[in-house]
Amino acid sequence: MKYSEYGRTGKLVSAVGFGGMRFDMEKSLAENAGLVKYAFDKGINYFDTAPDYCDGRSERIFGLAFKNMPREKFFVSDKLMPTLVNDAQEAYDKVRSVLDLMNIEYIDFFHVWCLRKMEHFEMAVRRGALYDGLLRCKEEGLIKHIAFSSHQKGNEVEKVIESGKFEGVLLGINILNFPYRRPGVLAARRHGLGVVAMNPLAGGLIPQNENNLLFLCSPGETPTEAALRFLIADENITVVLNGFTTREHVDTACRVAENAAPMTAADLERILRSLSENSLEICTSCGYCEVCPKGIPISKYMQIYNDKVLFNVSEADFAERLGFHYNWGLLAEDQPGAENCIACGKCEDRCTQHLPIAERMKEFARLKKEK
Ligand code: SF4
Ligand code: SF4
Repeated sequence: MKYSEYGRTGKLVSAVGFGGMRFDMEKSLAENAGLVKYAFDKGINYFDTAPDYCDGRSERIFGLAFKNMPREKFFVSDKLMPTLVNDAQEAYDKVRSVLDLMNIEYIDFFHVWCLRKMEHFEMAVRRGALYDGLLRCKEEGLIKHIAFSSHQKGNEVEKVIESGKFEGVLLGINILNFPYRRPGVLAARRHGLGVVAMNPLAGGLIPQNENNLLFLCSPGETPTEAALRFLIADENITVVLNGFTTREHVDTACRVAENAAPMTAADLERILRSLSENSLEICTSCGYCEVCPKGIPISKYMQIYNDKVLFNVSEADFAERLGFHYNWGLLAEDQPGAENCIACGKCEDRCTQHLPIAERMKEFARLKKEK
């Protein structure tokens, strides 16, 4: 395993981090905690969670695992969203209660979570709000470092960094969206922040579409391995979070980390040439948009739309695939369809990829009518 310093904190973190958002919910908490310990034994020392991951079970799973791990040998990352915390006192109370839940006395890296626009940053740092609560936690030793996670464009990420309030940043970057996300990574490095990459496999889209993504690989590797290598070998990125479900996932990431050679300029040029112009507009299945007043299963529709965005399928083929999904696939259950969209914009307001969801719903509704 490769280790490097997280920003200027003096902490040596593993290049592969454990993202706690994809535990196997068919398994017990104890079985999942066993996966955490397995990863630790393979050299992973950075563990990332959040209150809502896995229906609130992620922090509990880590808590169970941490009971059997020497506290001085691993780092914990957690988060709170400015839109869901009313004031500094609430932030402070929430940190205290999650420490109890995870059986630890401090959290190493605590994030102001999910900045999508500057308004969220301003909300977090307003006097008496989330950031002040985290500062109090830091003064009392409950938090060691304050970081932020962002789904903003590079120039906005840089503005947040320039505030001087943070020691690290968590960014959604992968081999498919890097032209859009990389400026944020470079800005963070210039300012000496730790950089953690989330979503390295585009929410599972890369492993699920390996046959269409062979242009990502060098000889002897799979698209999934290429996507991991792309980030792990990047010296501007400190930790690459992987949402592990199985031991095989852990093994793959650790194997890639052992031999990760950076992509060459020629590799990157080939990849850029093969990515469609729209490939930045992919849905990563994060689910943050699921607030539809009409009950439309938005992320299912957007996952289907990924095919169109990534692989340039014709409208006729796309309509055919859609028909399959209505009959057998993601949309087969009885649920409100795209034609019910009233373009209220609530989902777009929360979409981490800034997708034009209402416009796409219109397209889905039209294709359904034409069928
Ligand atoms: S814009 Fe459409 S899909 Fe999005 S929340 Fe509103 S009604 Fe639902
Ligand atoms: S549409 Fe946006 S918010 Fe919803 S799952 Fe996809 S990327 Fe996430």
